[in-house]
Amino acid sequence: MYQQKLIASPLQTVTFEGHSFYLKRDDLLHPDFSGNKARKFHYFLTHDFPAVRKIVSYGSAQSNAMYSLSVLAKIKGWEFEYHVDHIAEYLKENPHGNYQAALNNGMLLHAGRGLPATAIDKDVLFIEEGGRQKEAEYGIRILAEEIISWQQEQGIEKLNIFLPSGTGSTALFLQKHLPSSSVYTTPCVGGREYLKKQFLELEADEQFHPTVLTLEKKHHFGKLYKDNYKIWLKLQQQTGVEFDLLYDPLGWRVLLEHIGLFESPVLYIHQGGVLGNESMLPRYRRKFPLVSEERIEKE
Ligand SMILES: *Cc1c(COP(=O)(O)O)cnc(C)c1O
Repeated sequence: MYQQKLIASPLQTVTFEGHSFYLKRDDLLHPDFSGNKARKFHYFLTHDFPAVRKIVSYGSAQSNAMYSLSVLAKIKGWEFEYHVDHIAEYLKENPHGNYQAALNNGMLLHAGRGLPATAIDKDVLFIEEGGRQKEAEYGIRILAEEIISWQQEQGIEKLNIFLPSGTGSTALFLQKHLPSSSVYTTPCVGGREYLKKQFLELEADEQFHPTVLTLEKKHHFGKLYKDNYKIWLKLQQQTGVEFDLLYDPLGWRVLLEHIGLFESPVLYIHQGGVLGNESMLPRYRRKFPLVSEERIEKE
């Protein structure tokens, strides 16, 4: 039987590269329904939709949102129809990670045909790519409330909160519901301008926007960078926590380049996504065979 409720995710203290920080473990939110996408889809988990029989969504064949929607559909007893432009041959022949887990949950996959015109029906719950929609605010607000009550217990007045962004909706809603803390983020998909545009679509008043920090160099989403792999290995070594390989390495690189943030207590949000490492890690190992945990330790 599935656990249908989300209980507050744990918080811990960790040290990385000599800096001590708090870590919000949203990766441990629930055994199957966890991380950033569980927060964004929390609204659908806890509300009743008597007319709905099926979720329809679209995006990449390895996305965290796709997997989380397959879990949501399973919990709710709904069908889950997912549309992708294409599936890599390798993935088709060797299903793994989010893709395999979503198929195991009964996902009906449609490749290369675009969204069917019939998708928008009253028995269909349509979800935007990456869960970028207003209902996401419900779950992010609960995340903010968990942080506030923990802060009160600890007697911490002001936090500097850091999390890496895709669409930026998590960072934006978090800043909105944590007015006495500062939320910092970095764009992992697209650049600073793209992220600012995303914020503006959700909130016209820039005063309520998170602060955007970046590295000097341009960064491409999903591309394999040696520095990303190295910092991910170091994180694992020094904190004992597995982070995601798509967003967190850039997040940590940006955070460490802005150490002024550590003047206030820093809270990093672990947004899950670790299942996706099943596809990213073999790619990193193939591309950088000389980078390994042992070598990192000696540096
Ligand atoms: C989706 C996702 C993000 C980005 O969240 P946005 O709300 O789109 O900014 C970051 N980290 C992980 C692990 C995710 O799955």
